[in-house]
Amino acid sequence: MSDCPLCRSDGGLLLFRDDFLRLVRVLDTPDHPAFYRVILNRHVAEFSQLPAGERLRLMEAVATVERLLLAELSPAKVNLASLGNVVPHLHWHVIARFADDAQFPAPIWATAQRQRDTTALCAALPALDRLLGAELAGLAGQSV
Ligand SMILES: [Zn+2]
Repeated sequence: MSDCPLCRSDGGLLLFRDDFLRLVRVLDTPDHPAFYRVILNRHVAEFSQLPAGERLRLMEAVATVERLLLAELSPAKVNLASLGNVVPHLHWHVIARFADDAQFPAPIWATAQRQRDTTALCAALPALDRLLGAELAGLAGQSV
């Protein structure tokens, strides 16, 4: 769809793409730098509109990103969200949350309650990005 931002562009810093999905890191949420999106490449609005095998493949990618965020960043929680009210193109937000982040324990979209220095977290992300790309490439290799 030509008016859909996730059909027109990657939707963030592209870390991995195959014929089915892609992984990006979201760059416009400075309070939450460890914010990733798993995005279906084609335009589908609702999760249940995917065949079962594709639902599984998408959620395996989401679980892989969550697992690596937990292992590499030791967050208080990883938030998963699929809303699509503004952009009805299937994508999952995978967000590492920390007890001292700007909104915790509220959702990242809530009003900020505090400020957090994210310098160290930001410094860790390029290595994590490479790891995520490699893991998803491995996953894609298994599913072919
Ligand atoms: Zn789209």
